[in-house]
Amino acid sequence: MKPQRVLVSGASIAGPSLAYWLSRQGMDVTVVERAPAFRDGGQTIDVRGAGREVVQRMGLEELIRANTTEEKGIAFVDRNNRTKAFLGVKAFDGDGPIAELEILRGELARLLIQHSENRVKYRFGDSIAAVEDDGAQVLVRFEQGGEQIYDLVIVAEGIGSTTRNQVFGSEVHRRPLNLYTAYFTVPRQRSDGQVMRWYSVPGGRCVCLRPDNLGTTRAFLSFQQAPCGYEKLAQAEQKSLLKQMFADAGWETPRVLAALEETTDLYMEAVGQVKMPRWSRGASHWWGTRLIVLRRSAGWVQAWACAAPMCWPVSWGVMPITLRHLRLMKKSCGLTLRRRKACPALPPRLASPHSRLGIALGHAVLRMATAPGLKTLFGKILSPKADALVLPDYTNSR
Ligand SMILES: Cc1cc2nc3c(=O)[nH]c(=O)nc-3n(C[C@H](O)[C@H](O)[C@H](O)COP(=O)(O)OP(=O)(O)OC[C@H]3O[C@@H](n4cnc5c(N)ncnc54)[C@H](O)[C@@H]3O)c2cc1C
Repeated sequence: MKPQRVLVSGASIAGPSLAYWLSRQGMDVTVVERAPAFRDGGQTIDVRGAGREVVQRMGLEELIRANTTEEKGIAFVDRNNRTKAFLGVKAFDGDGPIAELEILRGELARLLIQHSENRVKYRFGDSIAAVEDDGAQVLVRFEQGGEQIYDLVIVAEGIGSTTRNQVFGSEVHRRPLNLYTAYFTVPRQRSDGQVMRWYSVPGGRCVCLRPDNLGTTRAFLSFQQAPCGYEKLAQAEQKSLLKQMFADAGWETPRVLAALEETTDLYMEAVGQVKMPRWSRGASHWWGTRLIVLRRSAGWVQAWACAAPMCWPVSWGVMPITLRHLRLMKKSCGLTLRRRKACPALPPRLASPHSRLGIALGHAVLRMATAPGLKTLFGKILSPKADALVLPDYTNSR
């Protein structure tokens, strides 16, 4: 039997995408989100490869196109704002580090919620307090009181998921990449233009400014540091930490730090990778699976992969569906895992060198990236591998 009552936890990218597909199959879907209201903020997300195909199938591509940031490329600048290397949006045929279709995370989440809210119930300002799986159904107790029974619970809470820890306990392993990032919005000024500017600061730090389509500029600060709980500090403490850490950085950093004081959308995280030996708990076959966790990256591709088996015709039989589904899920996760495994903890070090010499060498390498003969190699290194998934078509099945 298909699950009828489904609870999805997390209303960012993966949650609303999956909720949309499951509700289209007639399931009664509720999305619970911890934030008191729709959660805006974040930088651009590039829509490419399989992700692009999913938004096409959702009928959202044109809306996304109408809301892109229209970023023209990345300029790697020095302290005096001189461009030391430049990668244009077309440098890798529209599929380089800056993709042709880039949309703010908040705008994408908003579109996904709007696209699904006539068929999905959204419950903001609440979260799962406890889950009890009795072998047939899951009883969920909510933080704000009340309990509900579901056939299926899906956790799409991102990297810091507490429900994932609650349900999978010691099976959840978090591998740190020793990098902190802080994202926030700052007022736009004339020097911002349509190009992302990346300024590397000695000491493994960087300051970036990116254009958006809302008349403001997106800033991010990053620094290399093993996880030490900064992500859990109160926002005021995070702000004073960042101000201290970047006080000597130069370039346009004073302006960025002044705006940081006023910002309300600071999002700071310790970049890492969550590893788990399994993604679901419940009975051994797919239809009986009652608790599923979605991994953080490639949110909507996994949402599609996860929705697929529940939407294919039941007459296909349980086993083929299960195997096909698992292959797809593993592949969608594996793209990220393999990429990170291939260069463990190295990308943060390469992206933010510690010394002035390292920064100069980095710029020299980036200047060569689009040279004939090297372009293909650099394209592979700099662009996420996003088109290696063949997504099944189940849009018309019920
Ligand atoms: C505000 C915000 C800003 C971001 N900015 C960037 C960025 O600039 N660059 C970048 O690369 N990535 C950013 N991310 C992460 C990025 O959105 C995800 O890595 C990716 O899009 C996958 O999305 P996801 O839906 O799986 O997880 P996420 O986008 O991380 O969303 C998880 C959602 O679950 C909610 N949630 C968490 N715990 C609970 C709980 N216990 N109960 C209920 N709800 C819960 C969160 O509030 C959030 O809405 C940001 C995420 C958020 C939430």
